[in-house]
Amino acid sequence: MITYKFRLYPKKAEVEKLEIAKEVCRQTYNYLLAELNEGYTKNEIQNFLLDLKVVNPQMDNVHSKVLQMENQRLFGNLSSLSQRKKQGHKVGRLRFKGKNWFKTFTYNQSGFSLTHLKAKKGILWLSKIGEIPIKLHRQVEGNIKSITIKKSLGRWYASVVTDNVIKRVCGIGEIGIDVGIENYIYDSDGNAYENPKHFDNYHQELKIAQQSLSKKEKRSNSRIKARIKVAKIHERIANARDDFIHKLSTKLIKENKFIAIEKLNIKNLIGISYNAKNIADASWGKLSMYLHYKAENAGCVVQDVDPAYTTRDCNFCGHRNRKLFLWQRQFCCEKCNGELPRDYNSAINILARGKELASLEKASNTGQLVQQEASMKAEATTST
Ligand SMILES: [Zn+2]
Repeated sequence: MITYKFRLYPKKAEVEKLEIAKEVCRQTYNYLLAELNEGYTKNEIQNFLLDLKVVNPQMDNVHSKVLQMENQRLFGNLSSLSQRKKQGHKVGRLRFKGKNWFKTFTYNQSGFSLTHLKAKKGILWLSKIGEIPIKLHRQVEGNIKSITIKKSLGRWYASVVTDNVIKRVCGIGEIGIDVGIENYIYDSDGNAYENPKHFDNYHQELKIAQQSLSKKEKRSNSRIKARIKVAKIHERIANARDDFIHKLSTKLIKENKFIAIEKLNIKNLIGISYNAKNIADASWGKLSMYLHYKAENAGCVVQDVDPAYTTRDCNFCGHRNRKLFLWQRQFCCEKCNGELPRDYNSAINILARGKELASLEKASNTGQLVQQEASMKAEATTST
């Protein structure tokens, strides 16, 4: 399954219908929750939906399957609540949803169609709502299973879920990856991948917006507006970063059959601000996650590596050098005088260590197999 997120550009009339649908779904969810609290079963509650329609004529303005999904949502929430309880978390009861806490509704299997017009333009047709322009920045592959409509910060989005499983093909290279602040990553072939330049502009924009927010009077309208502006920039940054990580991970998988990547380590993060640290931290975690799941599909191996000493060990002679300070961007071996950019040296060490780990794991797996076979044979001989 693949999920695509697209921005919608509804006109005024459609916005009104979307708002009504969202509101009716919210009311429906709350009605059904009240029924659940009364002790009715899932099927009884499902049937109750039909009775509701008589009471609430607004429900005719919403595609019937969309309302049925509220029943599923309710029981989905219920089961995740009990799951959390099993894990030992303290949980309360399901809550009734207030207006600001209800942001999505879902078309499942029917009641929609998506047409690609030209370039990135398309039309999403939704039953009981109509046609809405949609920006298709990615090609949708596979059959659409469901579409979830979401309102976020005054904008409308569609999450399109398809049944397609992308078949990826990996390359033939082998690389080690060092993550860093100066360069986003550095690989063992000597390639540096920088953070995209436009991130700096976004962060500058964010800083200005945050400053302006802090000057606004509490509880004023202009403060609310300023807050929304800050949130929108945050969202743009998150989207741009996600896009960057998607493209980078796809490229790395396409080129390589073996990737060693350092496990996140606080050593890289010393000396940068708390905020920047959090952002960097989260984005490397995401890169590692995307690499792992794309690799699995492509037949590529991604090996996590403990990065301890990878900056200090010389990749030419193996000598462990004294500590490198963060400002020392060049690695220079005390023993053999070998010299390389610091992160390049680390990346080569990470690749070597990754390959070692991978072959050890392979050996232990085959070892286990041999053992298993031996014990099965032993069992076979004793039983005869
Ligand atoms: Zn050396």
